[in-house]
Order: sequence, then structure tokens, then C-alpha cells
Amino acid sequence: MSAVWIEDEPVVAARNFAAERDTALRAAHEVAKLEKRLCRQVGQAIMDFNMIEAGDKVMVCVSGGKDSYGMLDILLKMQQRAPIDFELIAVNLDQKQPGFPEHVLPEYLSKLGVPFHIENQDTYSIVKEKIAPGKTMCSLCSRLRRGILYRVADELGATKVALGHHRDDMIQTFFLNMFFAGKLKGMPPKLTSDDGHHMVIRPLAYVAEKDLIAWAAHQQFPIIPCTLCGSQENLQRKQVAAMLREWEKKYPGRTETMFTAMQNVAPSHLMDSNLHDFKGLKTTGVADDNGDMAFDPQPLPPTLPARSLQGLQTLQVVV
Ligand code: SF4
Repeated sequence: MSAVWIEDEPVVAARNFAAERDTALRAAHEVAKLEKRLCRQVGQAIMDFNMIEAGDKVMVCVSGGKDSYGMLDILLKMQQRAPIDFELIAVNLDQKQPGFPEHVLPEYLSKLGVPFHIENQDTYSIVKEKIAPGKTMCSLCSRLRRGILYRVADELGATKVALGHHRDDMIQTFFLNMFFAGKLKGMPPKLTSDDGHHMVIRPLAYVAEKDLIAWAAHQQFPIIPCTLCGSQENLQRKQVAAMLREWEKKYPGRTETMFTAMQNVAPSHLMDSNLHDFKGLKTTGVADDNGDMAFDPQPLPPTLPARSLQGLQTLQVVV
């Protein structure tokens, strides 16, 4: 009996070892693919929107959340391989929220070896004092934060301010503006600040949130919770995010299709007279491939991923 045990043991161990090695190899392959995708998408966004130019000093706003950690991480990799020279400086605004672990970011950034600046400003007390209990504090809080970050950018001589919003933030903002503000307006990948003095960029514009979640888990970023201020997370944004998740679950690929649509706008087929001269519209007598087949249903382009068309069939019938 004992001989059987002694003989069997190494065989089982060897089999487990092989399975473990395969799992580890598969996991490493997935991580390598994820890293490649993140770098490719960030590089593509930088090129498509001319986000970073030679000699730029990019102030990377780091909050301690997964998105801004991911942005800094990928930008550092891009800096190594970019054909141009540019500087990065990480900046965190410590808003003095109760329980904010102020040692976490300085320790992490020092270990990373990236230049950084921690700005200490007690906006938490100001917001608490000015906003009645129970009311949402976010709008005043973000206004104060924005002003401080622009001032810090000036003091540091930063030519670009990088924010960690990703593809899903942009789609959510698009629907929030449509549903609650009556505007077809999203979150741009690059814009000038409201005071006209700063250039703001969003290098994660093409990156899906689920990839940032996976990257944060793999890199084990020291995440700082974003609920320290005690404010309710924006309920409308939560609802829109849930709606988009539900659509994606039901019709896989729809998020990507919606994101493509945001980069493929036809002002002549909307109703904004500031963007298209409807009043002055004249017939040209010349055939136009992009013209409207006014009496026919609009055909869906064959380039759309088949899976994302599933939920659109009913739309095609009623157009
Ligand atoms: S959640 Fe808190 S920290 Fe964030 S903007 Fe709102 S009030 Fe400010």
C-alpha cells in the first residue's frame, strides 16, 4: 500500500506542475496582450489628437484611483519608446478629506522614480462650510480643484495637463448631456481650459474601463478610495453607466459602435443650424454619395460588427 503512495506521488505532482505552468503562461500571455493594447491605444490617441509634442512638460493628475495610476504607468512606458522627448510630472491634490492616507502617493511615486508634486489644499473644509448638509458637493469641489490644478500647472511650467478619463467616461458623458442637458456633447480628448490658458489632454480616450481595472489589479496599484469626502456618487452617472452595461450585455459590441459613432458625426443629418446651413441649402444637380435617400430606410453600413447590429434591426424597420 505504502509503495503505491510512494510511486503515485511524483506523477501527480508532475501533472499539477505542468497544469500550473500552463495557467501561468496563459496568464502572462494575457497580461502581455493587455499591456500591448493599452500602449497601442494610448499611443494612437496621442497621435490622432496631437496630444503630446516635443519639449512638452505634461502634468499628470494622479488622484489615487485606478484610472490615473494606469495613465501614469502607460505614459511612463510611452516616454521610453516615443520618438520625441517630453517630460512627465505627477501631481496629486490632497484635498484634506478625512482619512486620506497622505503617505501612499508620495511613497509610490518615489519608488517609481517619477518627478512629482503634492499640493495640499483644504478644499474639503470649504465645501463642507458652503454646501448645506445632504446637498451634492461635487460641483463646487471640482470647480475648486480645477482652479488649483491650473495654478499648479502654471507654477510647474507644465504645457499640458493630462486627465485620466477613459472611453467609458466619454460615452457616459455623451448620454448624460443628451438625457439631462439636451445637448449632443461629450468629453473631448483634447481641449483648452475655460480660462483659455491651459491645454488639457485625455490620453486614455481610447481605453476601455475594464482594461484599466485589469491593469490596476495586475500592477497592484495602491488604490485610495474615492468615497472619503462622504459625497454621494453622482446618481445620474450611475444610472447611465448601468444602462450602458446592460446594453453591452444584451448586444455585445454596442459600446464600441457608440464610441465609433462619436468620431463619425454628420452635422448635415442632425438639426443644428449653427453647424449646417439648412436655410441656405440649395440643390446642386450633382449626385452625392453621402446624400440622403430621403424616401428609403437608411441602410446600416456593412462595416459595423455583426454582433452590435442585433438590437438595431427594429430601428431599421421604423426609420
Ligand atoms: S466625490 Fe467628493 S471629492 Fe469627488 S468631486 Fe464629489 S465632493 Fe469632490
